Amino acid sequence: MRGEEPVVVEALKMRALPEGSCDRLFEFLRLYRDAVQMVVDKIWGINERLSKRKLHRLFYSNLMSMGFRAHHAKEIYIYAESLVKSAKSNGGRKPVLRRLSARVDRYDYRLDLDNMTLTLKLHDGCEARLRLIASRERVEKFRGWSNYELVVKYDGSGFWVSIYFKKSVKTLKPRTVMAIDLNFDNATLAIFTLNGKLIKLKRFKTPHKKLLTHRIWVERIQRRYSRSWRFIKGVKNAIDSHGERIRNITWDYAHELGDLVAKLALKHHSVIVLEDLENLKENNKKNKEFNKRLGLWFYHRIQFCIEYEARERNLEVIKIDPRGTSSKCPRCGKKLAENKHRILRCRKCDFIGDRDFIATLNLYKKYVSKYSRCGVPGVALNAPKPNENPSGMRGNKDEVMTSSYTNLYKS
Ligand SMILES: [Zn+2]
Repeated sequence: MRGEEPVVVEALKMRALPEGSCDRLFEFLRLYRDAVQMVVDKIWGINERLSKRKLHRLFYSNLMSMGFRAHHAKEIYIYAESLVKSAKSNGGRKPVLRRLSARVDRYDYRLDLDNMTLTLKLHDGCEARLRLIASRERVEKFRGWSNYELVVKYDGSGFWVSIYFKKSVKTLKPRTVMAIDLNFDNATLAIFTLNGKLIKLKRFKTPHKKLLTHRIWVERIQRRYSRSWRFIKGVKNAIDSHGERIRNITWDYAHELGDLVAKLALKHHSVIVLEDLENLKENNKKNKEFNKRLGLWFYHRIQFCIEYEARERNLEVIKIDPRGTSSKCPRCGKKLAENKHRILRCRKCDFIGDRDFIATLNLYKKYVSKYSRCGVPGVALNAPKPNENPSGMRGNKDEVMTSSYTNLYKS
């Protein structure tokens, strides 16, 4: 698929038995088919080649208003476009869809091969749980492979699921270390060589302002109807729709950041080092400023996407205990004091630096002391000076993320 590494792809086709009623699943498959048909009808008369971006602009909000999730929408217009393209290249007629079948992205299902269950995320926030029927032997083969997409269909007598698995033929050996520090308002990424030289530093803004705006609206409504909001339909709906926006904004952001990070890591042959969120303690800065408002799930979601995109490209992801990474001196280990906004200073050895950069540097050092055989290097010699933006951040500061983010996902 993506990346330059050779990959093997194989599908595992299984019978699937819905647990409970299958009404919603039928409804989803019909809605999906009709949506594909709607897109086919609309683009059949267009003779120019349609880019993904164009398709997104034309159909995304329409499909979302039908109750689809972001990745459903993407699958639908891409599938419709491929149908039109192949029909035209064969000189055929406009395709008319009859069969009930839907292509579902990795982000819209949960697969549990140990228990042989599949949870599909459907339209309007519904889910369907299916029991998968296949021999242990057939399934066992795919342990260690990653799956990225599935097709669910109804053939008149029952449901079938084909899950697409892939495996890389070889894995990448890291040449550099990419440390990522996630914060409330930004994600800071630093790439170091194995002997401690900083070669890239980037900072991506998070959509925290947008998220907070929705969060504040929810709180405001809840305060106003403190006793009754759960029971008044209109009020409950208003709260749900803000919740939905929060979920969409974070997923969109997480996907895009995951993709950018993994591309960059592939380019530099990096092992990716993340903070191990399981070890976050109550008094951690992240909990203080963030958890009470939005929750750790924001970080979990971003990490999930980074890991997923990285594994797709055969890159290694390692999680490191983040204790002390944003408060200790990377040179002597003493506790740092705040010098001015975002700048920390060591009273013992006078080390001074940008708070987020220090966090990535400490993550890098922890990684090296734990995993690398070449010993712990000193502080990176070319660490950026505290009174200037770190080199990688100058000029292109936050640009990449904000521009593509707003283009793609403007609501
Ligand atoms: Zn120090």
